[in-house]
Amino acid sequence: MAKISINIKQGTLLKDETPQKDIIVGIDLGTTNSLVAYINSESGTAMAVKDEGGSNKLVPSIVHFHTEKEEIVVGNDAKEYLVAQPENTIYSVKRLMGKSFNDLKGHSEYFGYQVIDDDTESLAKIRVNDRFYTPIELSSLILKQLKYRVEKALNQTVTKAVITVPAYFNDAQRQATRDAGKLAGLEVLRIVNEPTAASLAYGIGLKQGEEKTIAVYDLGGGTFDISILSIDNGIFEVLSTNGDTFLGGDDFDRAIVDYWAAENEMDVAALKLNKQWMQTLRLQAEKAKMHLSKHEDFETTEGYMTLKLSRSKFEELVQPLVDRTLENCKRALADANLKIEAIDEVVLVGGSTRVPLVKQAVGEFFGRTPHDDLNPDEVVALGAAVQADILAGNQKDMLLIDITPLSLGIETMGGLMDVIIPRNSKLPIKAGRQYTTQKDGQSGMRITVYQGERDLVSDNRKLGEFSLKGIPAMPAGLPKVEITFILDADGITRVRAKELRSGVEQSIEVKPSYGLSEEEMSQMLLDSIQNAQSDMQARSLQEALNEANSMISSVENFVEKNGELLTEVEIQGTVERVNALKESLDSRNKDIIHQHIEALNDFTRPFAERVMDQAIAVAMKGKKI
Ligand code: ADP
Ligand code: MG
Repeated sequence: MAKISINIKQGTLLKDETPQKDIIVGIDLGTTNSLVAYINSESGTAMAVKDEGGSNKLVPSIVHFHTEKEEIVVGNDAKEYLVAQPENTIYSVKRLMGKSFNDLKGHSEYFGYQVIDDDTESLAKIRVNDRFYTPIELSSLILKQLKYRVEKALNQTVTKAVITVPAYFNDAQRQATRDAGKLAGLEVLRIVNEPTAASLAYGIGLKQGEEKTIAVYDLGGGTFDISILSIDNGIFEVLSTNGDTFLGGDDFDRAIVDYWAAENEMDVAALKLNKQWMQTLRLQAEKAKMHLSKHEDFETTEGYMTLKLSRSKFEELVQPLVDRTLENCKRALADANLKIEAIDEVVLVGGSTRVPLVKQAVGEFFGRTPHDDLNPDEVVALGAAVQADILAGNQKDMLLIDITPLSLGIETMGGLMDVIIPRNSKLPIKAGRQYTTQKDGQSGMRITVYQGERDLVSDNRKLGEFSLKGIPAMPAGLPKVEITFILDADGITRVRAKELRSGVEQSIEVKPSYGLSEEEMSQMLLDSIQNAQSDMQARSLQEALNEANSMISSVENFVEKNGELLTEVEIQGTVERVNALKESLDSRNKDIIHQHIEALNDFTRPFAERVMDQAIAVAMKGKKI
C-alpha cells in the first residue's frame, strides 16, 4: 500500500529526502524474555538491541521492587531476586494481561507473588509492598526499559513501536498490551501476532502473489504455541492455534533438578523448602541445558555435589515433554483441517527450540527441515522490526494490502459523510450501522457509498449507489435499516442494506482502491488535513440545519394532531418560534440556529409533556386490568 508522510503543521507532503526519520521499533514482549529490534538503515537488516555493556539482547521479563529503597529494577538485575524475594519480584506478568481473578483461579500457586482481585474491578492486580499494580503497569516497566535501551543505542528518541502478542490473545489482552505501550510513552502502531512476525523475519509472505501454509512452532520459557498460518498475497490468516500455557524450557530445567536430586540422594521435600539451594540448582540446570545444546556432556561441582549430565540423559528426561508438544501440533493441524503435507514451511521460535532434540523432533514430525537460521529467541522481535519498517514506508516495493487506505462510508442527511469503516482498518472487516427513514410511509432509501476523509460527501469520491426498495409503510423513524460493509482481503467491498422489521434486502459490490493512483490517494488525505477546520464548520452547520428541519416538522406535526389540547397562547407562541427558527436558517450560522432550536424546545416542552401524560392516562383508562 502507498505510504505517505504528511507534515500535519504545514499540511504538506513529505518527500523522501526528509532528514531525521522517525524510527519505529519492533518489540517482543515475552513471558520469559523481552527484546527490542529495529531495521538498520545502512544494512537494511533487522537487528536486536544489546544492553549498554554490549552483551545481552534478551531482557528477562522480570520486575523487582526493592523493599527499603523506592527503587525498581528490570531484567537481569531483577532475576537475581527471583528465588530469595519472590513476593517482590514479578515474573510472567504476560500471563496476567487482560485476565480477571477468576481466569487465574487454580493457578495461584504458580505465582510467587500475590495476585489479588479487589472486587471493584474485574481485572486482576498484583500486590507488592502494600501497593497494587495492574499487569499493564508492570508490563509498561519492561517496555520502558526496552525504550531506554534502544534510545541509548541509537542516540535518538523513540516513540513509536510495533508490539507482538500470541496469536490466541483476545481483544482484552491485546488492548492491555496496547495500553502498556502507551503508559511506557510509546505509540503502538500495530499489534502483530508473534507467528506472523516470525514468518516476516524469514521473509516469508513478503513476496507478491505468494501463497503458502506455514507452521510456527514456538517453545519458550513457560509456554508452548503452535500456529498454522495461511499467507496469501501479503495477508496472514491464522488457521488454528494450539499449545500449552504451562509447558516450556522451565519444565526442562525442573526435570534436570529432579534428576540431580535423585542422583545425589537428596530429600526432594527438604530441597523444595530450601529456596537458596533450589535457586542454585535451577540456574545450574539451565546452564547445563544450554551447554548441552552445543556439547555432549556437562559437569560442575556445587558444594559437596557433582552435577553431571550427558546429552543423551537430558534427551531421555525431556522426551515426554517434547512428545506433548507434538500432540498439540496434531490437534492444530486437525483444527485447521489440514494434512501434514499441506504445510509448506516450518518456522522455529523460542529459546527452547535450540535444543537439538526439539529441532529434530519437529523436523521429523513435519517431514521437512525447519527454518532455524535466525536466533529463535530473537526472531519475533526481528519480524516486528520488519513490520515496523513496512509501516514506516521504508520498503517501497512492499504492498501492504491488509489495511484500508481511505475511509468508507455513506451519505446521510444534508450531504454528510458517515464513516462506516475508518481508514487504516485491518482487512478483512465487517462493520455496520442502523439508519431509519425521514418521512412517514417512505418505501425506499437511496444508499450512496463514498471513500475519503472529508466531512462532506461532495469532497469525497463516490464509489457507487443503489436503492433499497419495498420498505413496508411505517411512520418516519420506525424502520430499522441496517447498512453493512463487508471488506474482503482483496479490498472488495460489499455493501448491504436490510430493513430489519420486514427483512427487505439489497446489496452491491464496489471496488474501492482500484482506479485510484497513489498520488490521488495522498492528495485526498492531504486535502482532508488542510481542510479539516472548514470541514468541521461545514459539518456542524449541516448538523444544525438537519436538527432544525426535523424539529420544525415534528413540532408542526404535533400542533396539527393535538391542537384541541393546547391553549391559544401555546399555539400562537409555538408558531412564532417556528417562524423565527425558519428565518434563522438563512443566517447559515450554527450558533444562531441552535439558539432558536433551544427557544422552541424550551417553549414547547411543558405542554408536550402534559399532552403526553394525558395520552397515557387515556390509554390506561381504556385498558382493563
Ligand atoms: P519466551 O518467549 O517465553 O519469553 P524465550 O523464547 O526467550 O521465552 O525462551 C526462553 C527459554 O529458552 C528459557 O527456558 C531458556 O532456558 C531457553 N533457552 C535459551 N537458550 C537456550 C539454549 N541454548 N538451549 C536450550 N534452551 C535455551
Ligand atoms: Mg516468545
